[in-house]
Amino acid sequence: MVLEKLGNALKGTLQKIANSLFIDKKLVEELVKDIQRALLASDVNVRLVLELTEEIKKIALNEEPPRGIDKREFLVKIVYEELVKFLGEKESKIEITKRPFKIMMVGLFGSGKTTTIGKLAKYYATRGHKVAAIGLDVHRPAAPEQLEQICKQVNIPCFVKKSEKDPIKIYKEFKSELDKFDIVLIDTAGRDALSEDLIKEIKDLYLIIRPDERLLIISADIGQAAQKQAQAFHDSAFITGIIATKMDGTAKGGGALTACAATGAKIKFIGEGEKIDDLEIFDPKGFVSRMLGMGDLKLLLEKAKQVMTEESAEDLSKRFMKGDFNLNDLYEQMSAMRKMGPLSKIMEMIPGFGQIKMPKELLSVQEGKLKKWKFMMDSMTKQEKEDPDVIGGTRIERIAKGSGTSTGAVRELLKQYKQAKKMSKMMKGGKGMEKMMKKMGGKMPKGFGM
Ligand code: GDP
Ligand code: MG
Repeated sequence: MVLEKLGNALKGTLQKIANSLFIDKKLVEELVKDIQRALLASDVNVRLVLELTEEIKKIALNEEPPRGIDKREFLVKIVYEELVKFLGEKESKIEITKRPFKIMMVGLFGSGKTTTIGKLAKYYATRGHKVAAIGLDVHRPAAPEQLEQICKQVNIPCFVKKSEKDPIKIYKEFKSELDKFDIVLIDTAGRDALSEDLIKEIKDLYLIIRPDERLLIISADIGQAAQKQAQAFHDSAFITGIIATKMDGTAKGGGALTACAATGAKIKFIGEGEKIDDLEIFDPKGFVSRMLGMGDLKLLLEKAKQVMTEESAEDLSKRFMKGDFNLNDLYEQMSAMRKMGPLSKIMEMIPGFGQIKMPKELLSVQEGKLKKWKFMMDSMTKQEKEDPDVIGGTRIERIAKGSGTSTGAVRELLKQYKQAKKMSKMMKGGKGMEKMMKKMGGKMPKGFGM
């Protein structure tokens, strides 16, 4: 997949958001650092990275989420939207507005001009256009043969003249033939580096051919160095758009895409392989949402929401702190913890909570244990669940039998309940809790179920 590394790094960051209990400054700062690291590793320009992450931080810390979405979703949305903006925001389509519609490729040696002609030919031919190609690369010895081969693959006419060294003459010779097509794809010569000579050749061709689209073909593996090329071609006003090729084989693609976008030039397509079908329309929104795995992320956010509603969390935490919660509450709380991840991680995130010593059993809740608990609780009466202190020896035996567990397991559940209750009393009077409550502005953090 294109930009897999960058995608994975950013996905990990967004999952952190989805899994977090609440969004505070520390978390935002940590996420911003993650995003910076991921983008820099993808060769995105440092200044651009800082601009982007400052913007994310600013919005995340200063703006309230709009109605109907919670803070987590809001933060994900900010990251997504800023990345989309970063890549040029809107999809920039090539509209085929006249006949023949002439599309000229320009770019350095080996950037993928000729290969891309084949890809575009297939793309437009399968959409019902009559397509032809003309080869004006008179510098590279085997250029005409390469174009012929590629055109044969996609079954479109190819116009080349191997003996002629003047591209303008070649064009003029075939012009009347070319006028019979819907779309004419024009291959041109490149150079080793950006040179006056290349610009002049393209300029001369431009004046004669008047191509409707002039596409700069840039190999993405040059990363942020793409900026210089894109800027130079963009400034000379010859290009109407960019195709970034070789996105498949490089970790630097993020750098190339953002560098191009930063010049204001529009990226039209990306090439992601050597084969004829390895071409994709570049749509920043689709690109970013796929890179971030937005589909999965949505599910994850939904799940996070289901874990516990704000009200039930608040209610439970109030009861917990008063010391009057029952087995049902313990179960609910433990299964919520289970879904949210290790309790120790959660505790670390709450100011002042890190110091409180939690019983080991409470720190890790195993799925199997929770299931057993559920069976045992199903074998209890309503009264037993609400007031577990009434459960004595004979009741323990009955519950163990009824649930297919052991008396030891029932005793363990009761022990754990007592421990939690004891701890809740301790918190009620404890200093750690007071400190924490002060820091939180007297309110339990959202979604926190203790
Ligand atoms: P030109 O000199 O600009 O015409 O470049 P070519 O079209 O001849 O391509 C140069 C090399 O890059 C060839 O080996 C192509 O197969 C390869 N190439 C072009 N586009 C892509 C792409 O999107 N991905 C990969 N992996 N290789 C590509
Ligand atoms: Mg070529």
